[in-house]
Amino acid sequence: MNEPTEKPKASKESLILLIAIISAIVLGFILGGFFPSVGIKLGIFGQMFLNILMLLVVPIVVLSMIVGISRIQNLSQLGTLGSKTLVFYVLTTAVAATLGIILVNIIQPGINQSIAINELPNQREFIATDISTALRELLVGNPEKEQQGLVGYNLFLAMEKMDILPLILFSIFFGAALSSLGRKAKKSIRVLSVMNDAILKLVHWVMYLAPIGILGLVADRIAHSGGFKAFIPELMSLGLYALTVLLGLALHGFLFLSLLLRFLGKRSITNYLKGMGPALLNAFSTASSTATLPLTLQAVHEENQISEKVSNFVLPLGATVNMDGTALYEAVAAIFIAQLYGIDLNWVQQIIVILTATLAAIGAAGIPEAGLVTMLIVLRAVNLPIEGIGLLLSIDWLLDRFRTSINVWGDSVGAAVVERWESIRPEES
Ligand code: ASP
Repeated sequence: MNEPTEKPKASKESLILLIAIISAIVLGFILGGFFPSVGIKLGIFGQMFLNILMLLVVPIVVLSMIVGISRIQNLSQLGTLGSKTLVFYVLTTAVAATLGIILVNIIQPGINQSIAINELPNQREFIATDISTALRELLVGNPEKEQQGLVGYNLFLAMEKMDILPLILFSIFFGAALSSLGRKAKKSIRVLSVMNDAILKLVHWVMYLAPIGILGLVADRIAHSGGFKAFIPELMSLGLYALTVLLGLALHGFLFLSLLLRFLGKRSITNYLKGMGPALLNAFSTASSTATLPLTLQAVHEENQISEKVSNFVLPLGATVNMDGTALYEAVAAIFIAQLYGIDLNWVQQIIVILTATLAAIGAAGIPEAGLVTMLIVLRAVNLPIEGIGLLLSIDWLLDRFRTSINVWGDSVGAAVVERWESIRPEES
């Protein structure tokens, strides 16, 4: 694929798609909220759309990574690209968790709540994980669940189970090996590159299904939460907590990340946001960074014209490990639970919350409500009652959508910043 040279701007087609998707979300809320039976019927379109996206994830991760890395001629560049990406991801995630802590301490959504502790729900069995187990799982997986970590042992099982980390690691090294073969590998790289382009073409076609798929996903989800009659009171009961999370996500996404995009990535915020629109709305609708990855790649590379070399490396990694929204949410939720139980956390414990929320977000898979599960690491680290999570369940599906959009936005900003750090592109005015 030729590297685009024009100044990045959202295409007319993507604007039309954006409007269609926004309309689909609004219609989905209305249909699911007022006519739950219709919403549930529409769910089939959502499920088909989601299935197609998931179908594309493994080929796109493997091909885009191999092609991206094989473009790197000097392998020492891979080290700098990798370390710059990881530095950006870890720092922005930690900033998100810190912002969450600051807001939850100022707003104090759990203080003076009318919910008595003995009314806190405890219907679900949560198995708490500690930090060392979580780190271990991140590196070598959990054999009992046949789940592989970064260093996996079976490529095909990883594809079947959609364990993305071992696929990424394999693809990085395979791409590096191809690159080190020089002229000998030129034809093979070309073939893989064409296959990668073909997958991106498929993604492009799938985008035409996005409005109907998203309509189905949203209508079905709202309908399943009992329509507006059930869903609005639930939201209101946790209003201040939800508001703290949403305010934090908005500040992190629209202020912090956007400033990084402007000043470190040297990109126009509005142009970039427009190009990312369909992917961000898809993240909202699917609550999955992984399912959104095909659209993220397409938007970052084709709409926002970030080089393949950077986007193909930074984005699959980001969809798996970079979750700013999740870190922020976990930090807010942990302190909210402490406030509900009247537990005072000192500043050392709050720093532990920041660190563990960062780690828990890195460990969370890019699938719906994964953050809720990895939050156990945070609660366990500062001895908070894990049953408190039960209270957050009712509206987690909704907050998940917002934090997933910020997760995807964080990845795409990462691509722009890392590209600039790699000095690949001239400044956009
Ligand atoms: N659903 C989020 C994602 O896919 C993860 C989470 O639950 O926070 O990015």
